[in-house]
This record gives sequence, structure tokens and C-alpha cells, in this order.
Amino acid sequence: MNLVGRLFVAGQKEAVLCSWCLQGSHLILSAVEPGAGTWTLEVAQSDLTLGGFNEAQVVLKQGDLIFYGTRAEMENPLRLLGLERIHRALGKESTRVRSSVRRSYVWLSIFVAFLGLLGLAGWWVTERVVHVATGMTPVSWDVELGKAAWKTQQMGESEIKDPAIVKPVQEIVSLLSKPYQSQGYQFEVHVLDSPQVNAFAMPGGQMAVFTGLLKEAEGPDEVAGVLAHEIQHVVQRHGIRNIYSQLRWQMALAVLVGDGSSLHAQLLGSGAFLAGLSYGREMESEADREGLALLEKAGMPKGGMVKFFKKLDKQQGAVETYLKYLSTHPSSKDRISALEQQMTKAPGGGSVPVDWASLQTALGKGSKDAGRGRK
Ligand SMILES: [Zn+2]
Repeated sequence: MNLVGRLFVAGQKEAVLCSWCLQGSHLILSAVEPGAGTWTLEVAQSDLTLGGFNEAQVVLKQGDLIFYGTRAEMENPLRLLGLERIHRALGKESTRVRSSVRRSYVWLSIFVAFLGLLGLAGWWVTERVVHVATGMTPVSWDVELGKAAWKTQQMGESEIKDPAIVKPVQEIVSLLSKPYQSQGYQFEVHVLDSPQVNAFAMPGGQMAVFTGLLKEAEGPDEVAGVLAHEIQHVVQRHGIRNIYSQLRWQMALAVLVGDGSSLHAQLLGSGAFLAGLSYGREMESEADREGLALLEKAGMPKGGMVKFFKKLDKQQGAVETYLKYLSTHPSSKDRISALEQQMTKAPGGGSVPVDWASLQTALGKGSKDAGRGRK
């Protein structure tokens, strides 16, 4: 077997690949390239250390010469020389390197854990900032933002002006929003002529309901259920919270340097962001939960919300027009069963006092006669 290693000669930039053999305590090194030289190291007088990752190399140093050999190949022949110093060096070095490797792993783990904690702490701090900032933001900003966003949101659907259609929806919203009206929200209902089974709410109280949803609903309690959910998106200020979450790092900075004035501008620049309005699972669940409680407070039946969600869930995927509603409102079995659980605790009752029959008649006339007006 040809045993080789690398020899560094002082003053030379590159290592010389050498084969080695031991003759007594002399390590004879011959360059692998023929005629490139031979060297001799007196092992008894060399410094021996272990090098490389996991002490895989033996490093012998004497004068101008440093030789790197593979430890697996060199250790036994060197130990067989019976040189106590080398023996000790191999043993002692081994422990030192091993423990220093172990030490560096420990430090690396501590460092990684520290980075993780730092990220977590940053997240927690900014999460608190989002919460505090939302609390400090006046509701009038929601209203302003919602009105600006509403303008960008209109995608050409005609707005229905027929009072037989609009009034009942408005009535449901004003009954449901009663507890929040003193808080500065301005609830405004827009009924849009579109086959989509859809409804959404903008910050501050801009509400849009599509005729497709009104036709799909089998009663005013189902519409009330959807509207109660949407009103909760408004009063829980999910839009603002979403934007603040997106801006969390800028906000943390603004709070740190004590400059809140840039925030208002940033917020109002977010109207376009709201066009892609979507809420996370947590916010949807909150809107479900609080929406159901709101129905109860308003003396309206709670079953409609669940009934409507179930209907959407069943039709999910089958009908393309439902997709938009479903993509902004991931209606899942989990949400439905959570609502049902909440309802068994307090089933509730009541009614939705609106003229549903006239609304359906007006809708039934078809969108052509339904007094449309482009906004
Ligand atoms: Zn929702």
C-alpha cells in the first residue's frame, strides 16, 4: 500500500505530495513526482499534533518541515515506536481536539437557539405592537381607509338601487350593527348585481352583498348570518390588523423612533392591498364566533349562518361562482362544527324582521328590470 501525505516546506507555497515510510524513528518522505526530492523527519524530535476535522490527521513538525498524514494510517506505526512522548501526544491531543469539537457543537447549538429566541421575541414584540397600534388607531381611520379601498374594489358590477332589494339588506345591517354605531363606524350597504355568491366588508363599515348571495339564500336568517360575520370583520378591525401585521417591522421602527406620523400615510397607501382582502383562519373563526353572538344579541336566529356555510361547503368546487366567496372565506368542516358546538350551548331563536318576500320578488324580476345604477 502506498502511504501518502502532504509535506509543507517553509518558503514554498504549495505542498509536496509524498509517500512515507518509517525506518526506525525516521520518517522517510519521497515526493510522488519522480526526482522532486526526499526528506527525513526524526520522529523523536518532531512536534506531534492532531489536525483536521475530528482529529483525522497527524501533523508532524520539525524545523522547516510540516508533514500532514492520515491518522488512521500513521497512528499505529507511530505508537509502535514506543516513544512515550509521541504516545502521550497522540492520546492527549486526541482528548483535547475531541473536547474542543464537542465544545464548538455546544456553542453552535446555543447560538442557534439564541437566534431562534431572538426571532420569537421579535415576533412577539411586533405582535404586541400590532395589538397596541390597532387600539390606538381611531376608528375614523378605518372609515377613511374603507372608503378609499371601496373605490379601488369596484370591478364594474352594477350597484342595485331598487329599494325593495337594498332596504331589507340595509335593515339587517343596521339592526346588527346597533351595538357598534356609537363607536364611529359608518355602515353602508352596497348590493351588487352579480351571480357570485359573495359578500365582503371593508374597514369602517363598507359592506358589499352580491345578488347571487341573496338569491342563493333560502331566508333572511341566512343573509343575516353572513352579514353578522362580515360586520365582525369590521368591528374586530381585521383589515387594519392585517395591514399592521404586514407593516409590523416598519411599525416597530416607527414606535422605537417615536414617529407615528408616517403610519397614517402608509395605512392609506394600503387601499390596494385590501383589494386582495383575505383573512387568516384565526380571524375567520373570530368572525364566526362573534358573529353568532351578535345574532343572539340582536334577537335573530343563529341557524342561518350555519345553514348557509353548510350549503357553500357542499357546493364547494362544484360551482365556479362559489369559488370567490370560498377563497376569501375558507368554509371548512372545522368551522361549521365549531359553530354548531357554540349553538348547542345556546340555541337562541327570534326572527329577522324584513320584507323577504318583496326582496325575492324584486330579485326575481331579473337584473334587467331591477333598477340598476352604475356608481
Ligand atoms: Zn370572513
